[in-house]
This record gives sequence, structure tokens and C-alpha cells, in this order.
Amino acid sequence: MSALQILHRDPGSRARAGVLRTAHGEIRTPAFVPLATKATVKGLEPREVAALGFDMVLGNTFHLFLEPGADLIEHFGGLHDFMGWRQPIITDSGGFQVFSMGYGTVADEIKGRAPVGPDRMGRVLSIDEEGVRFRSYIEGSERFIGPETSMEVQAKLGSDIALVFDECTPFNIDREYTARSTERTHRWLDRCLAWHGQHRPPGQLVYGIVQGGVYEDLRVESTQAIAARPVDGIAIGGSLGADKPQMYDVVGWSTAALADDPRPRHLLGIGDIDDLIRGVELGVDTFDCAMPTRLGRHGVAIVPDPGKRWRVDLTAARHREDESPIMEGCPCPACSNGHSRGYLRYLVKNRELTGARLLTLHNLAFVARLMAGLRGAIADGTLASHAAALRAGASP
Ligand SMILES: [Zn+2]
Repeated sequence: MSALQILHRDPGSRARAGVLRTAHGEIRTPAFVPLATKATVKGLEPREVAALGFDMVLGNTFHLFLEPGADLIEHFGGLHDFMGWRQPIITDSGGFQVFSMGYGTVADEIKGRAPVGPDRMGRVLSIDEEGVRFRSYIEGSERFIGPETSMEVQAKLGSDIALVFDECTPFNIDREYTARSTERTHRWLDRCLAWHGQHRPPGQLVYGIVQGGVYEDLRVESTQAIAARPVDGIAIGGSLGADKPQMYDVVGWSTAALADDPRPRHLLGIGDIDDLIRGVELGVDTFDCAMPTRLGRHGVAIVPDPGKRWRVDLTAARHREDESPIMEGCPCPACSNGHSRGYLRYLVKNRELTGARLLTLHNLAFVARLMAGLRGAIADGTLASHAAALRAGASP
């Protein structure tokens, strides 16, 4: 039986709304999942994250494996108890971070920048069938992650949903390499499922990850290969393309291939406002992304302004004397307390913690309302008009 109970389907798209049941409670879908990369949603208390309306957060296997280590978190009874978040947690497998060290991001490739990896994340020493050997970015020691390591770490973290270890291919890689890599990802999936079947971490669901780069046949094959395995859910990962139209194609190939498969679908690392709306229409149930929290810490607020990518940069000089709130009518702590853009700009420019906190709260509140609105519209059968209004600049 699927952990996802689909309650409503949108007749005009692949969108669906429902309830995802896990060992630590339910997630109302479609849902956005804030990042708690290093066992905290940066700057916020767990109760604040819950009060914003989020049902699940995402912990990062790679970072927690290196620091403070899975054994220490297990000593505290797992990640829920360690960080004081009693609701569902999904953990990524570490694959994306490990491979980012060697490859960098799609943006790096497109803009011709060096990978962020070597300095920020560590350094890949070798990639083979067993897994990945790399140098830790913390103290330079040599470490190893393979499928079994990743599952063992996630079992110790005690997450409600574990993601299998995959090879995350970069954007500019050719079809030949992508095909071979995708096959290895499928072999790693079998090893992850074997480990999980043998050790049976209590109540933990496992999602497979679709790869296949930007090649339609490889994406469809990968989707079918993952769906044929006894996974509890299907995540869509890897390079999703050079631009948004290509990304929507790549995601759509998978959700079309899954058709009426009732298992939950997660889209990895996507969270721009327009991408969330389109992703929901394409039939994605959950999303995670650093965007709302990271932007907030850097002084960028999310606003209903599609022409400016739903963003306003409060660090810009024009906001110096701006007395208006980030957004009229927003119930978040920053706007409802009447904080002006000028004050928030001053806080952020001077690296006051309160500035990062207020903008993070505002951005997450915006995304929480967006997702609640999309869920409501699917239930009411009004998704098409609701999405059109959002794309025209309506407040969520
Ligand atoms: Zn606000």
C-alpha cells in the first residue's frame, strides 16, 4: 500500500493532493520541505518551522555524516530527538553533495565557473563501483560513502524517509556516460534496498532516485526501473537541464511514465515559485530547496512579482529610506510587526542575526501559503485559474 493517500486529482493536469503518512506523522501534499541541512533550519526554532505550516524538514546525510557524525546523533536517540523536531524528516543520501565536489553545479557549468566543490565541500579522490572516496572539507581526512554507508547513516539518523545513494551526473556529460552512470545508480539502488531489507530500520520508508540526465529515453527507462523495484516513493534527481523549459520536460517525462502510480514523488532541489507551481501541475508531491532560506539570509525577500522572479533584493540602495513592509497583508512576523524594508535592509547590511531570521520567516511563510493555496485549489477543482492568478502576480 502506498504511504501516500491521494484525496484529490486535478482534471486539467497531473496535479494531485493527499496525505503522506510516515512514522512521525502526516505530510499534507503537495508540500514544500524546508532544509534542515545541518540539523537546524538555519536561524529558526523547530516550533517556528512547525507554526509556519510545514510538516517535514530535510536533513543532509553528507554533512551530518562528517559532523557531528551519525554515531553521536544516534547516541541522542536519532535526528528527531537531537534537533527537537518531532514531525517527519526526510534525509538525502549524500550522493548529490559527494558528486558536487567533483562536478560543481549546473549553474557553475553554464556560467563557466569552477566547481564549488574543491574549496567548499572537499575533494573527490575516486569514484568506482563500490562508492566514492573523498577528502573531508572539515579536517581533510579521507572518507568513503557507498550505498551501504549511506543507508547505515540514514538508519542511525532515524529519518522517516531515506533516499538511496545515487550518482548525480552533471549537466554537460554525454549520453554514453549518462547511460552507464544511470545503470550504476540502478545497481546501487539494489544494494541500498538489500541493506535496508536486511536491517529494517523501524518505520523508515525508502525512495529510489530517477537519473538519466536530459535524455528522454534514459529518463523514462530510469523511471520504469525505479518504479519496478519495491521502493516506497520515487525521487527525481540529477541534472534537470539548462533552463526551466528543459527542466519541466525532464520532470514531465518521469511523472508521465509513472502515470497512475500511487507512490509519492519528490523533486530534489527545486523551489523557485514558478517551478513549484509547474511542478505541482506535473504531479510532484513534495519539493525541497535551499532557495527560500538561503535567499532570506542574503537579504532577498520573496514577493508576488513574477516579472522579477518573485524576488526583491532588500540590500539595494533604493530601499534605504523605504518605509513600506516587504509585502502588504503578509501575516509573517516581519510584515505583521510593521518592519520597514529600510529597517530590514539596515539589519541585513550589518549582518544582524535578526535580519536573517525575519527574512527567512517571511520567505518560508510565503512558500507555506503558496503550497496551502495550491492544495486547496486542487481540492476545489480550481487549480487552473488559481495557478493563472499566481503567475499574474496574485498574493498566495
Ligand atoms: Zn512577510
